[in-house]
Amino acid sequence: INKILHNYPRRSIMSFLEDRSKSDWQSLDSEHYLHPFTDHKDLGNKSRIIAKADGVYVYDIEGNQILDGMSGLWCVNIGYGRSELSEAAASQLNELPYYNSFFQCANPPSIELANKLDKITQKQFNKVFYTGSGSESIDTMIRIVRRYWEVMGHPNKKTIIARKNAYHGSTIAGVSLGGMNAMHKQGGPLLPGIEHVDQPYWFESDRSHSPDDFGKKVASQLEEKILEIGVDNIAAFVGEPIQGAGGVIIPPDSYWPEIQRICNHYGILMVTDEVICGFGRLGEWFGADHFQVKPDLMTFAKGVTSGYLPLGGVMVSEKVSSAIIDKGGEFAHGFTYSGHPASCAVAIENIRILDEENLVSRTKNEIGPYLQNKWKSLEDHPIVGETRMVGLMGAMELVPQKNSPQRFDDKSTAGMTFRNFAVNNGLVMRAVGDTIVTSPPLVISEEEVDELVEKAWICLDHTQSEMTK
Ligand code: PMP
Repeated sequence: INKILHNYPRRSIMSFLEDRSKSDWQSLDSEHYLHPFTDHKDLGNKSRIIAKADGVYVYDIEGNQILDGMSGLWCVNIGYGRSELSEAAASQLNELPYYNSFFQCANPPSIELANKLDKITQKQFNKVFYTGSGSESIDTMIRIVRRYWEVMGHPNKKTIIARKNAYHGSTIAGVSLGGMNAMHKQGGPLLPGIEHVDQPYWFESDRSHSPDDFGKKVASQLEEKILEIGVDNIAAFVGEPIQGAGGVIIPPDSYWPEIQRICNHYGILMVTDEVICGFGRLGEWFGADHFQVKPDLMTFAKGVTSGYLPLGGVMVSEKVSSAIIDKGGEFAHGFTYSGHPASCAVAIENIRILDEENLVSRTKNEIGPYLQNKWKSLEDHPIVGETRMVGLMGAMELVPQKNSPQRFDDKSTAGMTFRNFAVNNGLVMRAVGDTIVTSPPLVISEEEVDELVEKAWICLDHTQSEMTK
C-alpha cells in the first residue's frame, strides 16, 4: 500500500483564508456547515478538507494526493488547474461581473455561448435557456414542456414519464422526476403528474432475456404507461442517456431507439438529461449523439464549464421554441443567474479547449478504449460480477460469487468498504450500493489510467478480505 501513497508537500491556500490546522477546519465545519447528502452524525469532525487540485489530482489539506476518478461530481471534464478558465472568469468579472438577461437584456458571453451551443448540438436545436444548475435545468425543462402543450392547445398534456432510480436533481421538481426512493421518502409531497417506469438495468434483471430483448422489453413499459394514463395526458418522456448517480446503468443498444420510436408514434416529447453525459463524457458531445436519438429538449450543466463556475441550461428544438415564441408570448420563467456573464465566459473557453484539444474524439477513440480495456481486466477479480463502460463513464458490480446474480447479504457494505479504502489510499471512486462507479477527467493520461486501475485492484483485494472476515 505504501507504494501507492503519494505524499505531496502542503501548498499554501488562498491568502484570504486563515491558515488553520486540519482539526480546526474540521471542527469549524462541523459546527456551522450543513452539507448536502451527508449524515452529520456519521461525519462528526471528520470532514475531508480538499484544498487544491491539478490535472486529475486533488490534494487534501495535509497535501495527500488523490486521483479523482469522479471528476469532482462528474463535472471537471477538462481537469483541474486550467488557467485559461480562471483567466476567462477573471477578465469577464473585471469587464462585466453581472447583469441580468430579463426584460430584453443580454451580455456578449451569453450570446456567444448560445451560438457555440447551437454549433455543437444536433440540428433540431436552435435555442438555449440558461440556468444555474442541473436541478434548475430540470425545473425549466418541465415548465417548457408543459408550456409547449398549453400553447399547442393541449392543456391536459401534463404528465411526464421518467425512470425509477433516475437522478434529476434535488429541487422539488428534480426529486419528483428522479426515481430515488430514499429521496422520495423525505420532504414530500412531491410534484404531481410524474410517473416512473423501470430502468434498463440488465445486470440486476433475472437475465432470462438477451440484453437486446431486455432493452426492448423495458422500453415497452413506456408504451404501456402511455396507454394506461392516456396519450392526451402525456407531455414527455425524460431519461439520462446513461443513468449516472443510479450506478452508471448503460442501457442495451436496443433501448433508446425503441424509446424514440414510441415517443414519435404517440407524438410525445423526448428529453435527454445530459447533465452528466453531455460535453464529451461518452465520446460524443452529448449522450443523444452516442445513442443516435434526436431529443426535443436536452438539459445540461456540470461539464459545460467543467464545474469551474455554476451554469446549466436547456437546449430547445426549433419545433418547441417556435411554438412557445409564436403562439405563447412571454414565457414567465427565469433566474437571477440565467446567462451569468462569467459562467458563460468560462463555458466558451471550456468548449474551445474540448474542441481544440480533441478531448471528445480522444475519449471515443483513444483514452476511452484504453481505460475500457483495463477496466474490463478487473473482471478477473473474484468479487467482480461485471464491468461496463462507455467513453469515460463506467461501473463495476461487486458480488460474493462470480457468475451468479446473488448480491452480498449486507447490501452496500462491500461498496462502502471499497470506497473508504480507496479514498484513504489516494483514489476517489463512488459507491452506489455495491456498484462502484468511475468518471475521470477526459484529460486523464495512460499512466494515470494505469494508476487508477492498479489502485482499484488493490481496493478490491482489501474489500474481498474484509467481506470474508
Ligand atoms: N440531472 C442529472 C442527470 C444529474 O446527474 C444531476 C446531478 N448529479 C442533476 C440533474 C442535478 O444537477 P445539480 O446538482 O447541478 O442541480
